[in-house]
Amino acid sequence: MAKAPVLTPRADDFPRWYQDLITKAELADNGPVRGTMVIRPYGYGLWERMQAEMDARIKETGTQNAYFPLLIPQSYFAREADHVEGFAPELAVVTHGGGKELEEPAVVRPTSEMIINDYFSKWVQSYRDLPLQINQWANVVRWELRPRLFLRTTEFLWQEGHTAHATYEEARDFAAHIQQHVYGNFLTEVLATDFVSGRKTAKERFAGAVNTLTLESMMGDGKALQMVTSHELGQNFAKAFNTRYLSRDGRQELVWQTSWGSTTRMIGALVMTHGDDNGLRVPPRLAQIQVVVLAIKGEEAVLAKVRELGDRLRAAGLRVHVDDRTDTPFGRRAVDWELKGVPVRIEVGPRDLENGTAMLARRIPGGKEPVPVDSLVPLLPAILEEDQALLLAESRERRESRTADVSTIEEAVEAVGAGGWARIPWADLGEEGEARLAAHAVTVRCLVAADGSVPAADDAPGNVAVVARAY
Ligand code: AMP
Repeated sequence: MAKAPVLTPRADDFPRWYQDLITKAELADNGPVRGTMVIRPYGYGLWERMQAEMDARIKETGTQNAYFPLLIPQSYFAREADHVEGFAPELAVVTHGGGKELEEPAVVRPTSEMIINDYFSKWVQSYRDLPLQINQWANVVRWELRPRLFLRTTEFLWQEGHTAHATYEEARDFAAHIQQHVYGNFLTEVLATDFVSGRKTAKERFAGAVNTLTLESMMGDGKALQMVTSHELGQNFAKAFNTRYLSRDGRQELVWQTSWGSTTRMIGALVMTHGDDNGLRVPPRLAQIQVVVLAIKGEEAVLAKVRELGDRLRAAGLRVHVDDRTDTPFGRRAVDWELKGVPVRIEVGPRDLENGTAMLARRIPGGKEPVPVDSLVPLLPAILEEDQALLLAESRERRESRTADVSTIEEAVEAVGAGGWARIPWADLGEEGEARLAAHAVTVRCLVAADGSVPAADDAPGNVAVVARAY
């Protein structure tokens, strides 16, 4: 009898495969309130690694972490018209506290432009206070109508960066720097995920921004996911909060601002980008466990060997877990680590002890072979780097092979229907064509310049629209 698959195969039902994987790899559970999520330790471990890598990159830009309150006076939201209009349908509002109706309801932050700008306007006095670069790690709430674990939850975890600058150019360049050198670098170097970097059309822009930069990645089923965004806010919030500084030549000027965010959505992206029919595959530089050393049997000598090997690999700088829970059958544990996507398994049984070998199983390219135990320390770092590069190459190959250059809306819809993306000259599409695509649930993910760079304006000559179905 053929073994039943551990997960619904991706080709049969991709959304179900995604749900199955999240449950079986113990990443998360649905929370009791619709759209909320319980992140389990293995899933949270991925987030902690993402945080550490992202936080280091953010700090390299000279940005500091701070914390602002969860609750924001409702009246603040009336201050910036576009922002309030964009966020109104998604707000959760606290009307009661301590058993009494509140005089002024408080909004649970959906993002913190409002409250942060209130304080920026107090902190910024002169050009010497600029640039002001603040980041916060926090949870936010957006009342999502179509929630999906990690990708779109009602409450999610994120970092949100907020900056104020003296000039338009400086703010523009900073938003682009974050996009390329913090987010782009993290996706390429750590998440091993290919992307297209571009600007959003007016229709898809962040509420209150003058320009939104995005990184869009292709998931395993050919759909797009907006991975991260970086916004130029212009002076919209500065006007709303009267955030002014005394310039070098003694004038009161409004600041120029940016904001940018990345969220637990990236865990969903990780699953949909690198997962396969056997489970997750975690890029080694991200993995909280890069190598798991398994005892096949519970004999003392085997247990001593796996523990000793674990220590040796840890001392070599690897992130290692020793699985000596031999009260659970070995086969079950092996499948479980496969599901969790740990890049390398080292399996040690009684026979290996005699031979001085261990079985080396690689999750990312697949395959298993016996190797001398003493070769592991020199071997593993190179293997992990090779696996990291393999995942990035696969992700890039997927987007390149499944993106079609087209010149009509009909061709674009057809290409997307076949499970990929299309690139169409923006001049041939325009806002009217964008509206027509929407009828097919196809959206403009971003605009890119003819040379692949991020365009300076929606209507710059040669702009190409990347269109897709999106999560
Ligand atoms: P925004 O502040 O709207 O630009 O959002 C910043 C980033 O958060 C977006 O680029 C998305 O990747 C992500 N995001 C937006 N909504 C959600 C959600 N409901 N759950 C998880 N991530 C989200």
